[in-house]
This record gives sequence, structure tokens and C-alpha cells, in this order.
Amino acid sequence: MTVAFKADPQVVKDYLRLFVNRRAYTMQSMRPHPESGRHYYFRPTERGTGAPRMLTEETVRQHLEGEITVGLYAINPSTQRCKWVAIDADYKNAMEDLLKLQYYLGQDKVEPALEMSRRGGHLWILLATPLLAKECRIYIHDLATRLGVPVKSSGLGDGIEIFPRHNAIGDGEFGNAIRGPLGIHRGAARRFWFYGADYTLEAQMAYLNGLQKMTEEELQRFIAGKEMPAGINSPRPEHSPTDRLPRQGARSEFRILEHVGKARKVGRNYVARCPACAEAGHDRGGDNLAILIQDPRFYKCWAGCTKEMIRAALGHPIRVNQTA
Ligand SMILES: [Zn+2]
Repeated sequence: MTVAFKADPQVVKDYLRLFVNRRAYTMQSMRPHPESGRHYYFRPTERGTGAPRMLTEETVRQHLEGEITVGLYAINPSTQRCKWVAIDADYKNAMEDLLKLQYYLGQDKVEPALEMSRRGGHLWILLATPLLAKECRIYIHDLATRLGVPVKSSGLGDGIEIFPRHNAIGDGEFGNAIRGPLGIHRGAARRFWFYGADYTLEAQMAYLNGLQKMTEEELQRFIAGKEMPAGINSPRPEHSPTDRLPRQGARSEFRILEHVGKARKVGRNYVARCPACAEAGHDRGGDNLAILIQDPRFYKCWAGCTKEMIRAALGHPIRVNQTA
């Protein structure tokens, strides 16, 4: 893989301040899906309780040092505000459109940072204080429309995607996550840097710290008298996993027994090596995972690995919508 990077505690703190607006996050699966080869994103949970894991300084350190790759949500549902706006473009001529946007944002004295991605790039606008998602979206939509840059709406056709993807989200909703800047893309097995600075964490963070941050007063001025154009559809916001259970059951084709190798019958259960334990080098006895014979959709690791961890370890994470 890439050179090991050490993330200085100050770099971690700066990253949290600039990019982290809520503690819910997603994580990219370390293992590719066996058929598609893609590294899907999922919402990590706590071993034992299964509660959603919350993003901490330690999470950011691991992300920056390349041990894990996290996705960040734009909107904090308690305020409907975001700390940044990201424009994702990954189609043919995407870079041309991003450079055009970057140039015209510069005319407004907004100073966005251009991050490379696998195809195309991400343009990040950092905000002086958290600003209303809806107003940020009006600004970028209006600018894109004036420049003739296509905005992706319903999933058909090329265009930029604007994060936040929603004007507002409800309690227990997440919106869509985007790969946290400076993380290793698992599929590409490499880190994507910002163009504006040397390729070290310290130089990149110093560059981001030094950028002009858009203020509320500026945003108000840019969108004065403007509305969100009609007919712009946001994707259905994601709900917490409990809200999604019925839908998941309906479309689930995942069968744990096809993935655990040898399983032996013990009472009412099959018993096998837990894939999440195995990934960490544990469960050498091969008996941590119990699968209900009567209904193999129900399985449990006695060491406390959650369903999310087990699915991710198999390259079949319980997926969430995510832009990498
Ligand atoms: Zn386990």
C-alpha cells in the first residue's frame, strides 16, 4: 500500500473542526464484495450492544493514517446546517466542470479546495460557521445552472452531485455520506490529495486551514431573491437501521451459510468460525458463530461481533448509499 502516515494530534483536531458535523458516520468495507469487487460502505456498530458507533478523534486518526476509511454526513439534523459543501463529479469532462465551478466560486471570493478522486474529483467549500443546508444548495444549484454545468437529479444522466444532498433531514435520518477527505480509497488502494498543497497531512491541513471560509453573510448575499428550482429531487434520506428492517428483509438475498465454510450442527444451531473474529485472528476454535438451523437469517457471534461487522468481514456489508 502507500507510505505510512502519522497523524499529528493537531491535524486530527483541525480535521474534526473543519469536517465533522455529527458523530454518525460510515465506513468502507476492508474486503471487496466477492462478485462486484467493490468496497461498499456501511454504518459501523459497537461490539456487543450493536449500537451505532460514534466518530471520535481516534476514528479520525485511523482514517488519516489509512487504517480505515470513513464517510462523513453533511447535515446535522438538530440544526439542518453543514460545515462544508462538497461537489462530486465523476463523469467524462467532470474535471472541466469542476474547474469552471472553482473559477466562478473564486469570482465570489469563495475559495474551494479541489480533491482528486478515482474518476474526476470533489470540490470542497469550507464554511466559517455551520450554514443551512438548503441555502448552501440554492447557491451551488444556481451557480451550476448559470454555468451550464449539469446537476444530477434522479440518477439518470451525468451531472454533479451536491453534498448536502437534501435541504433538510428528519430525526433518525442521515442524508448521504461522502468519503472523508484524505482517506485511503480501499478500491483504488491509494490516497487522494488536494491539489493545492504538498502531499503530507500537515501541508494539506495547513492549506485547508488557510482557505477563505464562506460566511453566513456572504451566502445570504449570493442567494438573495433565489429559490431552489422546482423539480429537483433529493434521494430518499436514509433511516436508522431499525427503521429499515422490513425493507431489508424483503430484498435480502444474503445467506450466511454460503459464507462460513464448514458449519456443524449443535442442538438448534449450526456452529462455525465467526468471519469478523477470523479477520482479527480470533475464534481459532471455529465455534463463535451460532446460526439458527430453523431460520438461518438469525445468527449471533458469542464474542459480540455485530451483524454489521460480520457482513463487512465477508465483503457483503449492510450497505448505505455513499459517494466514494
Ligand atoms: Zn465474532
